[in-house]
Amino acid sequence: MDASSPLDRRTLVATIRDYVEQMREEGMEGLPASANSAPRTMPSAPKAQAAPISTELFSKYPGLEKTSTLEELRAFIGDCQRCKLAPRRTNLVFGVGNPNAELMFVGEAPGADEDMRGEPFVGRAGQLLTDIIERGMGISRADVYICNVIKCRPPDNRNPEPDEVAACEPFLFRQIDLVRPRAIIGLGTFAVQAVLKVKIPISKLRGNWQDFRGIRFMPTFHPAYLLRTPSDKRLVWADIQEVMKYLGMPIPRRGGAPS
Ligand code: URA
Repeated sequence: MDASSPLDRRTLVATIRDYVEQMREEGMEGLPASANSAPRTMPSAPKAQAAPISTELFSKYPGLEKTSTLEELRAFIGDCQRCKLAPRRTNLVFGVGNPNAELMFVGEAPGADEDMRGEPFVGRAGQLLTDIIERGMGISRADVYICNVIKCRPPDNRNPEPDEVAACEPFLFRQIDLVRPRAIIGLGTFAVQAVLKVKIPISKLRGNWQDFRGIRFMPTFHPAYLLRTPSDKRLVWADIQEVMKYLGMPIPRRGGAPS
């Protein structure tokens, strides 16, 4: 942008005005002393105590709505035997990260590495996701919350089946209730379609904000897809930047999709 040109100057002023307006809406009364010297952590706006987003789903598991922390939810799920994935799993993969995260990533289901370690996104695709968060966004993986629609590994990495989604999704929705992030990034076709209950292809949805019961939801490609199609990393980086803008995060000057 050439700030000496009148058109660019107008764009710059409009961008700053939007940013300040957004900060005001979030209750911030002054500007930070220096955007450059500020540590790159997620801005933490006070969160509204919202009503549960998915009450009707909780009736499937009475008592689920009473869980008031992620620990309580994990204890509620217990040694889950509610669907046919249970007998073959090594570990149930619940979720990791900041319980008060502003940003949540939702993937599909654990793969072999995740099943072994009991933690989401720790295999090759997980490493790429971690790079996107840490090298791309400039924050720590521990600052965000990461989980999957399905908590147990489907055999041979097949797609989760509808009865498995139905058994597991109340737990995802309660997780979303409890973390109450300001934005969710849905990773890949399956996660996006399962959360939004749509059949639209990810190539059409990605990059376009959706609403998930009052929470901003950004669909983007799955990191496993990016391992096969690295040329699309720039699209994911564009989607991630949209989310960063919404969250008021500084975009790293030389940021870009990690290679
Ligand atoms: N793919 C997913 O969708 N989730 C994981 O946890 C790992 C790979």
